[in-house]
Amino acid sequence: MTVTVRAPAKINLHLGVGAPRPDGFHPLATVFHAVGLCDDVTVDPSDGWALHVQTPDWIPPADLPDPADNIVTRAADLLAAHHGLRRSGLVEVEKGIPVAGGMAGGSADAAAALVALDRLWDCGTSDDDILRLAAELGSDVPFALVGGTALGTGRGEILQPVADHATWWWVAVPSRQGLSTPAVYRRFDELNPTAGAEPTPPDEVLRAVAAGDPHALAAALHNDLQDAALDLRPDLADTLAAGESAGALRGIVSGSGPTCVFLCESADAAREVAGGLLAAYDVVLVTNGPVAGAHVVAYG
Ligand code: ATP
Repeated sequence: MTVTVRAPAKINLHLGVGAPRPDGFHPLATVFHAVGLCDDVTVDPSDGWALHVQTPDWIPPADLPDPADNIVTRAADLLAAHHGLRRSGLVEVEKGIPVAGGMAGGSADAAAALVALDRLWDCGTSDDDILRLAAELGSDVPFALVGGTALGTGRGEILQPVADHATWWWVAVPSRQGLSTPAVYRRFDELNPTAGAEPTPPDEVLRAVAAGDPHALAAALHNDLQDAALDLRPDLADTLAAGESAGALRGIVSGSGPTCVFLCESADAAREVAGGLLAAYDVVLVTNGPVAGAHVVAYG
């Protein structure tokens, strides 16, 4: 039996960050949004364990860790331990989400692996348990399971779905050089020594999503990590300016960066913005959201 599970990248429409908690995590108030850039995880039965990662030519494979350190192996260990099983399987990860790009590609793979291996090993894990295992793997992993548009609180793992009946069009410009999420949070702490415990609330983004109006959403997009990401990578300011002068309603850094994402008025506008950016950037992706969380796409 082969199972393929697809999981989406995320954009944070709002990312409010508070001062670090005693456990070291930053409290977040974020609006996650799943978009059509995705990774596929395919699992086949095997007595042993083997993990291969395939990358398109625009994703440098050197940025990926050894299979033993891949979050997919950690997901497999956690699920196997939960059921008292031994980890087994042949796993193929096909990346379509930038690595270390602020779009939660590793989290998507972890979510997809939990769903795929649950099928392969016939575990029948409850939704509650799979969400709990996901939160143990990383703050963004539960959202990769759920997808759509959702409010994330706590460290991002406490989710509440947000009704989102629009289709939002995005252009994404990945960067050859990734940014380390912990490094961006460290710079955020340095730049905001007096940050309060309460993250910036997401009310304006929630109102814009409810209204389904791209101009209102463009004005409301908010990322507390953007200044820290721009401080580490000043070149990203040029990318944001280039997308906006190519016709995007607004550009922001995605999560901890360095991928820059641009909200556009329509599908046609997104294609036009992408065409403009292609003059200066090798890789320019057009996508939309919201899309589903981790789900089976092939089974047999
Ligand atoms: P986030 O926005 O969730 O903080 P990100 O999108 O910036 O993360 P990821 O692509 O998830 O970045 O990678 C973060 C780190 O995890 C990288 O250093 C990468 O080497 C490591 N990693 C482990 N497993 C994977 C995987 N399957 N895919 C991508 N990165 C992985």
